[in-house]
Amino acid sequence: MTPYQLTEDELRQEQRKVRRGSGAAAAVCAVVYGLAYPLVFGGSTLAIVYKLYAGMSYWPVVPAISLAGVLAVAVLERGRPFRAAWLTDHGDTNTDIAHTVVNLAVIQLTAVWIARLGDFVPPQWRLFPVQWPLWSQLLLVAAVFDLGLYAVHRLSHAVSWLWRLHAPHHSAERLYWLNGERRHPLHAALMVEKYDLLS
Ligand SMILES: [Zn+2]
Repeated sequence: MTPYQLTEDELRQEQRKVRRGSGAAAAVCAVVYGLAYPLVFGGSTLAIVYKLYAGMSYWPVVPAISLAGVLAVAVLERGRPFRAAWLTDHGDTNTDIAHTVVNLAVIQLTAVWIARLGDFVPPQWRLFPVQWPLWSQLLLVAAVFDLGLYAVHRLSHAVSWLWRLHAPHHSAERLYWLNGERRHPLHAALMVEKYDLLS
């Protein structure tokens, strides 16, 4: 049985272990557990936007803040694992390190390449509303980013050749901080395009 095939009872037992303690301690635990993701993800995104608008360069600000966010997830996982078994190596750590290194490089290079292609687009053809207030530009970017991600993901489950590229992403036997980039490098490149097309 893989960790994806927990019964409802097993899931409840695992979650009781995560939210240990009783009364106020359990409530605090549950709040911290629930807020961890929005705080880490939202906090690092806001920090990146703030630093870039303060005039700091992409390197090393964005990689450093992103790395800090990912390491925060790794530390939180050790303190409050969803499943304790997911903290131990399943013979997958080296594969996941290789996927992470290769795919982050692919994503970075693809983003740079698409941005350079974008430089050739005449100004009158550029659609992004740079005159809008910053907050509404950020909302638009978030909406396009998320819808693009959703569309590529839906298609990856529906179209056979895309599924072949996407299947490694669902081959993991545990979920942990290092295997978010377990995917075929071509699929990693596809996941970049949706937000660069807008810029
Ligand atoms: Zn999927």
